[in-house]
Amino acid sequence: MTGKPIIEVHDLEVCYGEAVQAVRGISLAVPAGGFIALIGANGAGKTTLLRSLSGLVTLQRGRVTAGRILFDGADIAGRSPSRLATAGIGQVLEGRRCFLPMTVEENLRTATFAQGLSRRRTREALDCAYARFTRLAERRRTPAALLSGGEQQMLAMARALVGSPRLLLLDEPTMGLAPRIAEEILAGVARLNRDEGVAVLLAEQNAGLALAHADTAHVIENGVIRLSATGAELAGHGELWATYLGLPDAPSPVPYHHEVTGPCKRNQGLGQSR
Ligand code: ATP
Repeated sequence: MTGKPIIEVHDLEVCYGEAVQAVRGISLAVPAGGFIALIGANGAGKTTLLRSLSGLVTLQRGRVTAGRILFDGADIAGRSPSRLATAGIGQVLEGRRCFLPMTVEENLRTATFAQGLSRRRTREALDCAYARFTRLAERRRTPAALLSGGEQQMLAMARALVGSPRLLLLDEPTMGLAPRIAEEILAGVARLNRDEGVAVLLAEQNAGLALAHADTAHVIENGVIRLSATGAELAGHGELWATYLGLPDAPSPVPYHHEVTGPCKRNQGLGQSR
C-alpha cells in the first residue's frame, strides 16, 4: 500500500554547534504506506536525520541550517515533538526509552496520557497494544526493568503506536538484540506496515535485515545519500557493502517469516476523539 509522500525531505542540512555538519543536503520521500530504510555505518548521519523529522534535534543542540521537511505537504520546521506526534508521526528513537521502574501497563498509560486520550480511547489503545504485542499482554504487570531487551523494544514501539501514527520513525530497533529477536522485531515492523498501512522510516545498521523488508534503501555516508535502490538491487552489489558499510560482502536478506504481533485493525477506535 503506497501512495503520495507522507513525508518529504528537501536538501536538508543539519549541524551540531558550529563544527559538526551531520547531514549535508539530503533529499528523500517516504510514500504513504511505504517502508524506507536508511543504512550506513556509525556516524553516517542516520540518527540526526530522524531527529530532525521528529523535532528532537534541537534538544541535542543541533539545528536545521538549510532545507525543508514537509509532512502531508505542510512545512513542519520548528514544530515540537508533541505536535508532530499529534499530527501522526510516531517515533522510537535510540535506547528504547521505557520508564524502567514502571510496569508495562503504566508505561503504555504514560503514552496515552501524553496523547490526551480519553478513558475509553485509553482502554482501546491498551487492547490494541496487547493484540499487537502478545508478549506485552502476558507481562503487563511486570516492571519494564525486568523485561528482556526485545520486550523493551516492543514496549517502546507499543508506546509510539498508541496515537495511531501514520508514519513511524525507528532508530536502530535491533541494536543489542540477539539475531532471532532482531528478526522478530523487524518482522513485527513489517507487519505493521503491510497490514495496517503505517509508513516506516527505519535507520538500521543491520543492513541485511533492513533490506529484507524495505521497499527502498538509502545508503548514507558522511551525511550524504550515496545510493538509493530497492533491497534486492542493493543486496546484489557486494562492492557497495565494502565501500559504504565496511562489510566484506553483502549480507543475505532474511525472508519475512516471523509473526510477533497480533492483528489490530488500524483506526480500531484509536486516534479519533482525543
Ligand atoms: P550511529 O549509528 O553511530 O548513531 P548515525 O548514522 O546515526 O550513527 P549520527 O548519530 O547522526 O550518525 O551522527 C552523525 C554525526 O553527528 C557524527 O559525526 C556524530 O559524532 C555527530 N553527532 C551526533 N549527535 C551529536 C550531538 N548531540 N552533538 C554533536 N555531534 C553529534
